[in-house]
Amino acid sequence: MKSSVLHQKSNENLNETAVKVAVAKGDGIGPEIMDATLKILEAAGANIEPEYIQLGEQVYLSGNSAGIAKETWEIINKNKIILKAPITTPQGKGYKSLNVTLRKSLGLFANVRPVSALYPYVETNFPQMDVVVIRENEEDLYAGIEHQQTQDVVQCLKLITRPGCEKIVRYAFEYARVYGRKKVTCMVKDNIMKLTDGLFHQVFDEIATEYPEIQNETQIIDIGAARLAANPENYDVVVTSNLYGDIVSDIVAEIAGSVGMAGSANIGTNVAMFEAIHGSAPDIAGQNIANPSGLINAAISMLAHVGQTVIADKIKNAWLATIEAGFHTADIYGEDNSVKKVSTSEFADEIISRLGEKPKHFVGSNMSKGKGKIEIPEYTRKSENKVLLGVDVFIDWKGNDPEEIGQALSKINAFKLKLKMITNRGVKVFPEGMKETYCTDHWRCRFVAKSAEINTGEAPVYTPINFEQIVALLSKLHTKGFDVIKTENLYEFDGKRGFSLGQGE
Ligand code: NAD
Repeated sequence: MKSSVLHQKSNENLNETAVKVAVAKGDGIGPEIMDATLKILEAAGANIEPEYIQLGEQVYLSGNSAGIAKETWEIINKNKIILKAPITTPQGKGYKSLNVTLRKSLGLFANVRPVSALYPYVETNFPQMDVVVIRENEEDLYAGIEHQQTQDVVQCLKLITRPGCEKIVRYAFEYARVYGRKKVTCMVKDNIMKLTDGLFHQVFDEIATEYPEIQNETQIIDIGAARLAANPENYDVVVTSNLYGDIVSDIVAEIAGSVGMAGSANIGTNVAMFEAIHGSAPDIAGQNIANPSGLINAAISMLAHVGQTVIADKIKNAWLATIEAGFHTADIYGEDNSVKKVSTSEFADEIISRLGEKPKHFVGSNMSKGKGKIEIPEYTRKSENKVLLGVDVFIDWKGNDPEEIGQALSKINAFKLKLKMITNRGVKVFPEGMKETYCTDHWRCRFVAKSAEINTGEAPVYTPINFEQIVALLSKLHTKGFDVIKTENLYEFDGKRGFSLGQGE
């Protein structure tokens, strides 16, 4: 492992020790764009000390299915900052996504992708767009908890947690505060997912009140994503959960025309990783023609993250000035807006020759005028009173008449628990279902205390039960030949219902 100090002297860090960075040169075009990026960092006076690590294809092919060796984890945990070039995941089964492994193992809860238009040098319909998408990175449907429950039904659990929401939402507001952004937009689908997306929205509203100087708004993800694609100039910082963020951040990069130019940061409480958003581009590897801008922008975010904002601004401004001057790599070269088609290394040299210059057409970078550091407080859990009110028992049943299973289950009386309703794919089919509702082999049967009201037209009334009643019920269902595939307990927390009602309940 080679280690060297890139530069000890910078204007703002003259007396500080260098920031240690684990540097992965990656695969494909990775080494070329990393060399170009490091050369610029060195010339600009970034006070960092790289320690090289190996990630990706060679590690996979050596028989390590995770793509990362044990010693590498140690270096990452010691250095805490990673600058990573793209890697190639070998074709074939059994290789785990290294990015997902890194994100989850290191608790990199926020994915931050700033994207701004570089018009007219990079074609886009939105010359004014300048958006930062902040995506939750660890939870949601990406928790990877999936099960096949019946022959016809598979399930993926969407996990949204209060600490997860608080961290990402606070990060978004702090980011806006530190980088002088004016508005944070939350995107959710809480008109449908009232508990999961509802929690994200609720936490957003709570935390927004602590930042009165920053505008806040919430949009439903479908119309929000459509508006973002149609009028990205109207957005500033967007914060959302994992799956929506995955989609929205790609939309934003695509419409800016700069998929090859954007960088991203994965931020955790202790570790942060910076990389380009594109892949290892094996089709152009080894030709010295790749555009290193994505990784350069990632490195700029890294410098800002470690507090070297003066150097970050200096590199960003020189990069913008180079784009303006028309020195472009092949991917963005065009007769009208380019002066010269340059190689990867020539592009880096052009940037170096402009260090200290400010762009004339673009708004210059001003991160050093930011306000302080992003601090995320530790989560503190409040105590709440949790009361058990019933149970949803999921049954694999191959019949197709809800009346038949409904009548059979209605006869079961286990320690005062009684069938309240049955849904199939969330739609109530018993009692009083609609003949037209399609039923699969997955029946959600809600059992509550006998005293609960059924179909009064009023909000349902639930009374507390004991866990022993559920155990007895399950035992009885099993004895009667029902194939129980899973249960979900129904709780209320501080008197607030902690489960959704069935459609039509
Ligand atoms: P890709 O982003 O590597 O390439 C897509 C197209 O864009 C190619 O035509 C490529 O030549 C071009 N391109 C990408 N980056 C460029 C650059 N900097 N300059 C000029 N042109 C550029 O996507 P892909 O082909 O789908 O994936 C290739 C490999 O990269 C796969 O093994 C994939 O798993 C991996 N990948 C890695 C990461 C990562 O490490 N973060 C991300 C995405 C894909």
